[in-house]
Amino acid sequence: MKTKLFLKLIFLVFLISIAGCEENLPTYPNNTSKQTSTHKKVLLVGIDGLQFERIAALNTPNLDKLHISKAYTGGIKGNLSHQATSSGPGWTSILTGVWKDKHGVPNNSSGTYKSKAKSIYRLIKENKNNTSIASIATWSPIHEFLQNDMSLVDYQNEGGSDANSTNLGVHQISNSNHDLVFIHLDNVDIVGHASGFGSAYDNAIIAADQQLGQLMDAITQRLATKNEDWLIMVTTDHGRNSNGGYSHGGTTESEKTIFIGMNKPGNQEFKSKISNLPNTDFDGLYGYPAQTSIVPTILRHMEINIETNWQLSSAPLIGADGPRKLLFVNNNQNELFWVSNSESNAEIYKNNQLVTTVPASQGNYLDTATNDGKTTYTIRIEESTASIESRNQNLKIIACLDWNDMLNNRAYFFRNDGQYIRYNKLKDKTDSGYPKETNNSSWPGLGAYKELITAALKWNNHKGYFFLSDGKYLRYDMNADKVDKGYPTLINNNNWTGLEGWRDKIIGAVNWNNNKAYFFLNDGTYIRYSITNDSADPGYPRSINNSNWPGLGSYATSISSVIDWDSKYVYFFLTDNTYIKYDKQKDATVSGYPKNVDDTTWPGILN
Ligand SMILES: [Zn+2]
Repeated sequence: MKTKLFLKLIFLVFLISIAGCEENLPTYPNNTSKQTSTHKKVLLVGIDGLQFERIAALNTPNLDKLHISKAYTGGIKGNLSHQATSSGPGWTSILTGVWKDKHGVPNNSSGTYKSKAKSIYRLIKENKNNTSIASIATWSPIHEFLQNDMSLVDYQNEGGSDANSTNLGVHQISNSNHDLVFIHLDNVDIVGHASGFGSAYDNAIIAADQQLGQLMDAITQRLATKNEDWLIMVTTDHGRNSNGGYSHGGTTESEKTIFIGMNKPGNQEFKSKISNLPNTDFDGLYGYPAQTSIVPTILRHMEINIETNWQLSSAPLIGADGPRKLLFVNNNQNELFWVSNSESNAEIYKNNQLVTTVPASQGNYLDTATNDGKTTYTIRIEESTASIESRNQNLKIIACLDWNDMLNNRAYFFRNDGQYIRYNKLKDKTDSGYPKETNNSSWPGLGAYKELITAALKWNNHKGYFFLSDGKYLRYDMNADKVDKGYPTLINNNNWTGLEGWRDKIIGAVNWNNNKAYFFLNDGTYIRYSITNDSADPGYPRSINNSNWPGLGSYATSISSVIDWDSKYVYFFLTDNTYIKYDKQKDATVSGYPKNVDDTTWPGILN
């Protein structure tokens, strides 16, 4: 086994590093005699949850007939493209060529999410006549995520066993004339969840390799009588957690590591890792091809022109290299990096509008414009594209609501783009599926006022209060999960004694959980409110300064929202998307703040 592993590693290194020798390598099937009338066909086999490194370690004669490159899933951590290493987002990326920010599938809830992006099925059907497609998925949710496009598919089957899916696949290849056949095998992942890494998992991989062999044999038999050029691709949706291999979904190197196998030698993007990148996270994993490279590779093989406005994330792995490794250079997400050896030009598009043309080899573009909202940058080189989406630079947290109770440690963050985030305080990250729109189904009674929200706080008896920029407020019943009848209503000296004069100046509110609440005003002052007396304490508003709020004085007029976090800390979010941690017991700002609100400090809240 060790000798085999060594030889296989040598072989893989050889494949990846030696250009020019590719003609001598075994290509399967042989296509040296292709003519213009040759039918371009594709077999895509997906093996769920297969850890790349096990291929080299095991006896997998059918995978060994292919050229295999390590690759990555999960998008780019810290970018809008970031997604869980789960099957829902993974298979959707494999079949749409885009990440979560474009396809919108964050997890495995197939009843809740369906792809917002066109699938490879639609791209083929809308751009090439007389095509036929078969899609066979042992894990049936794959088809549910693609439900917008499944009516375009000529043959589909979902569920059952991998053996059944393989038999159906062989039958479809042998007895129909499909142009794309996709087959998903699930058992490797099932065994991985049940047994982790080990002999059962390895045996499941060997069995999947044999099923791959049956499918490849069916193509070999077709080629005996038909003038066809088959692209065979094999991939997986995600790796597994290195701690035993039982689970996945997280953002670790082994979970993000996948592979792409092809019967074609591929271009430089497939064959050669790029090490010199502005982002070397996960041991340089982004230097390998992306999971989103599969769709453009299929399109190119089928001789379908790749349109710029499809905003596909990655360039093909065959033919002339397009824009490679499109990444943001800076945290501001307005400077682009890419790799190209092309002597032609790179067209740079913002939200599908051509903004400039630069030499492709320049590999860098700084956008000096001020952009409102999210911006999708698309680079076009050599008839293919890569796209990346920047976060909304003007996005801000405008209100926070602590929903803390014994059952679920949740906090809600409301943003100026009309969306909100549910934050898991135990896991210290945004729950999957967020942001969501603030509307009358997510927050009954609040939807019409989402643009006006300036502050929120949790009161006693499961009531939350939302304060609006027009001096009104809403009372939200956290048990009934809706706005109480009769709201919004104007703040006056009966309902909020002592607040009336400042009712349209409130920009932050927090329950200090010592029978005091604090209201922060847009002029750098604050009001202390006695919950016991239900009135503002006398002598307020007062200025926020470093005597009454140590460390906060310089930021008195920059506060955007405030949230009580736990018995010890309160967080202040500032208008420039930094935040301050305030120690309630010491009654002082924790040193080292403000810090940036980003994907490390507050995962997901600005995505
Ligand atoms: Zn799984």
